Amino acid sequence: MATAAQGEALLPPYKDASAPVETRVRDLLGRMTLREKAAQMAQVERTVASARALAELGAGSVLNGGGSAPGDRSPACWTGMVDGLQRLALSSRLGVPILYGTDAVHGHNNVYGATVFPHNVGLGAARDPELLRKIGEATALEVRATGIHWTFAPCVAICRDPRWGRCYESYSEDPETVRSSTTIVAGLQGQPPADHPHGYPFLASVREKVLACAKHFVGDGGTDRGINEGNTICSYDDLENIHMEPYLDCIAQGVATVMASHSKWNGERLHSCRYLLTDVLKGKLGFKVGFVISDWEGIDKICEPRVAQGSDYRYCIKQSVNAGMDMIMIPYRFEEFLENLVFLVETWEIPMSRIDDAVERILRVKFISGVFEHPFSDPSLLDIVGCKEHRLLAREAVRKSIVLLKNGKNQKEPFLPLATNVKRILVTGTHADDIGLQCGGWTVGWNGDSGKVTPGTSILDAIKESVGVQTEVVYEACATEATIATGEFSYAVVVVGEVPYAESVGDRTDLSIPFNGSDLITRVASTIPTLVIVVSGRPLDIETQVLEKIDALVAAWLPGTEGMGIADCLFGHHDFVGTLPVTWHRSVDQLPLNAGHANYDPLFPVGYGLKMFEK
Ligand code: BGC
Repeated sequence: MATAAQGEALLPPYKDASAPVETRVRDLLGRMTLREKAAQMAQVERTVASARALAELGAGSVLNGGGSAPGDRSPACWTGMVDGLQRLALSSRLGVPILYGTDAVHGHNNVYGATVFPHNVGLGAARDPELLRKIGEATALEVRATGIHWTFAPCVAICRDPRWGRCYESYSEDPETVRSSTTIVAGLQGQPPADHPHGYPFLASVREKVLACAKHFVGDGGTDRGINEGNTICSYDDLENIHMEPYLDCIAQGVATVMASHSKWNGERLHSCRYLLTDVLKGKLGFKVGFVISDWEGIDKICEPRVAQGSDYRYCIKQSVNAGMDMIMIPYRFEEFLENLVFLVETWEIPMSRIDDAVERILRVKFISGVFEHPFSDPSLLDIVGCKEHRLLAREAVRKSIVLLKNGKNQKEPFLPLATNVKRILVTGTHADDIGLQCGGWTVGWNGDSGKVTPGTSILDAIKESVGVQTEVVYEACATEATIATGEFSYAVVVVGEVPYAESVGDRTDLSIPFNGSDLITRVASTIPTLVIVVSGRPLDIETQVLEKIDALVAAWLPGTEGMGIADCLFGHHDFVGTLPVTWHRSVDQLPLNAGHANYDPLFPVGYGLKMFEK
């Protein structure tokens, strides 16, 4: 029988938490077979993360695709699922833990009951780096509470065209605004120590931090006509000066991972572009410590137009790994991937040095993340999911993100703040009382949904809570002529906007307000003094005659669960501070329209935003 001291002596260096990270990486790499290394480079979807995939073959990572969630989506359900998968991974020959990744892109949004922050477009409007850092911290805690170590955020796309279905995932069309929003990386991962400017950021506080992922490298927001996964046509200088800048900030903060973009640059798919992934990202931009992950089925699309099969699939793997891809978000054809990758190395089509580089990067991140020492969830953290403190932070984020675009028919008679000492007001519109619509895509489901998808405060709830007891709030989702004509309302609040969507589902050529929103606004505003709130992931068309008819206009973006943040400003408890992160076009014919373009003639320019109290 071994004594405790002998047991310790038998501990391989890679399992010794006190050994230097590089020693652990080299030791573990040296013990791995080619097949184990290839498996380490694989990320599989949670529904195919079987005992065979994790315990027998040693897949390196698991994710849930946007809408894929366990059981009732409660925090406890997530924890049970993730810990269960981790247990399988730890029972593999070398006991290497998985990194579980999820799209916590505006809070831990896949989890029922989590705090849902405004989507990035709203946070860009706030232009408040410290707020972003705090949101990163809160998100990290909620994610870690469910046993998850990695979020696929932030999206640092520069959205140059609002027709793009991912416009709301971009902080801004302006590179500087996106750059200053990358402080969320330090919030998620922890501040990098001064002596390690490019890495090793969060060893000290692993229980409260998660790995971040800057995505999608690069040019995803600059595609022709805003087509998702399309082609970004520009010079290298434009790519660098417009789209690449935020990656420099993320790398400086020690971002652990970077996700490649589905899009192309001048016709070449990023997923197989060695120049951009290796020479530029890992070379020129200095991404030395972390690893590059492909996007969902990204390598399958290299051989377009079809999804690659047979030898085509093998070719795609070869192109991508040789281009510098370190981990592959497969996510469903794990064993086919594994066989092909092993074959490609055995036949010298992928050099062993490339595999070792990829696996070293992955293992280094695993050691740094603390997942070896803290592989499971911490039950004492569970109450943190959706806690009051985080909801208050989200409320602050909402009030800093909303933008006042019009206030009063003329400058002398401002319409906001709304009066609270009135007899009767009308609240109407599709988006007045709907948490799901407020949250948008990537909320308890990939595409989001309307209705009570998760607990929160709707705009209607928030208005009711803010007016005085003497005020009657009449709510009709679609106010009728009769109600409008006979209600004797002091004023009306009309809340209109978009239905939730994600990725290509949201690509549009028509940006008019859905559900005949303009008609409702016109109907109401013809009789009653009217404030319009637009809930959307991007600027929508607002005709001049509609704008002239209404008394006030607020862009609320996709504010998330905390509608009180909107009421905070409407009723004058806080002033508006948000300014447009993207250009508000007059008509879609003008698109793409960004500051600096010749003939820049928008309805509201980027940076525009009024205040109620200050001149
Ligand atoms: C998206 C990524 C996301 C990934 C995992 C992809 O379709 O492009 O942004 O992180 O899915 O859900």
